[in-house]
Amino acid sequence: MNFKSILIQPFLPEDRVDRAFLTEKLQEIFSLPVLWERPVPLPPEGFDPVRKQYLASFFLTYLLPLQQGDNIVLGIVSQDLYEPGLNFVFGVASPKTRTAVISTYRLHNSFYGLPEDENLFQERVLKEAVHEIGHTLGLGHCPNPECVMHFSNSILDTDRKSYLFCPSCYEKVKKAIGL
Ligand SMILES: [Zn+2]
Ligand SMILES: [Zn+2]
Repeated sequence: MNFKSILIQPFLPEDRVDRAFLTEKLQEIFSLPVLWERPVPLPPEGFDPVRKQYLASFFLTYLLPLQQGDNIVLGIVSQDLYEPGLNFVFGVASPKTRTAVISTYRLHNSFYGLPEDENLFQERVLKEAVHEIGHTLGLGHCPNPECVMHFSNSILDTDRKSYLFCPSCYEKVKKAIGL
């Protein structure tokens, strides 16, 4: 499969994601152009009023109209996401539809009662984005705690890992993209 681009769909209200930083890093890592759609409102159908969270997997089909068959679609949501059986998720992705979504809700230090750290926030956004894009390319979780494909149970796991793939995961990425 040869991919042409990574298409990002931001949802309103937008968080203060540094688009220039995210674009530059994703292009560097995946060697694909990164394009941004105009921000759109959150789909009310994805909201669970009891949990006060959005169903993460709802976005995987919701983003399908942006799927051209040769691109990867990534949604960015500022609200909290969940999956049945899980209190929350940082993001989800499907290798079948090559759509993914991440939430920035729990990537702020302030969520954990700590002073905000702008650079740390942007780095966490990047890690979650690279991780979910990795899943769209068919990669699973990696046992290496420093690899971006390592599973994040908490923000501590996210902070421990790098935003890069370990050598063996990167081989899979190259194969999937056709590099
Ligand atoms: Zn994962
Ligand atoms: Zn790895």
